[in-house]
Amino acid sequence: MLNIVIFGAPGSGKGTQSDKLIDHYKLFHISTGDVLRDNIRRGTDLGKVAKGYIDQGQLVPDELIIDILAQVLDDNKENIQEGVIFDGFPRTIPQAEALEQLLADRGTKIDAVVGLEVPEDELIKRILLRGQMSGRSDDNEDTARKRLETYHNQTSPLKAYYEEQGKYRAINGLGSIDDIFDLIKESLDSL
Ligand code: ADP
Repeated sequence: MLNIVIFGAPGSGKGTQSDKLIDHYKLFHISTGDVLRDNIRRGTDLGKVAKGYIDQGQLVPDELIIDILAQVLDDNKENIQEGVIFDGFPRTIPQAEALEQLLADRGTKIDAVVGLEVPEDELIKRILLRGQMSGRSDDNEDTARKRLETYHNQTSPLKAYYEEQGKYRAINGLGSIDDIFDLIKESLDSL
């Protein structure tokens, strides 16, 4: 099993690099952002609650997102053969602690946290560009700035959390998609 967290600010390229990791390592992809957007599209109760937070650039409450994650893990036992890539989760220390417990209960653990490091001005540029193409309601300048603030306040402390566990792998997230992927592979292949 290879369980990886792909970590970084909004716009750092988590989704893009996840696609390449899934392909290369045959991992099962869990993107909490995708799960929430799917619920919004289907108009579920969860989707209605989540949309309020997402459009404000805030995090969906931990209890909700932890329950969702446990559900996705249990619903996909058969699909999870080689391991999982967690994309957009954990985003808070309580989420990281919950993840550790969820995995321990299932006899497994996080092997590495791949941190995509990208300067702030580049992040905003990328988010706005993506917004023009994807039409994501949270990819506008106001919400993007709030999401970055949320990231700095609530999510970035996870870097030190995983550094202490010796699991954090810093990756320069500037450059071509393939070059960045090569750096990630190099780092994971030495595990
Ligand atoms: P990005 O990394 O570009 O912000 P995501 O698709 O991962 O995009 O997340 C979009 C939004 O969904 C977040 O801004 C947040 O509101 C919500 N969200 C996603 N994952 C989580 C999570 N683990 N905890 C709380 N909220 C989340």
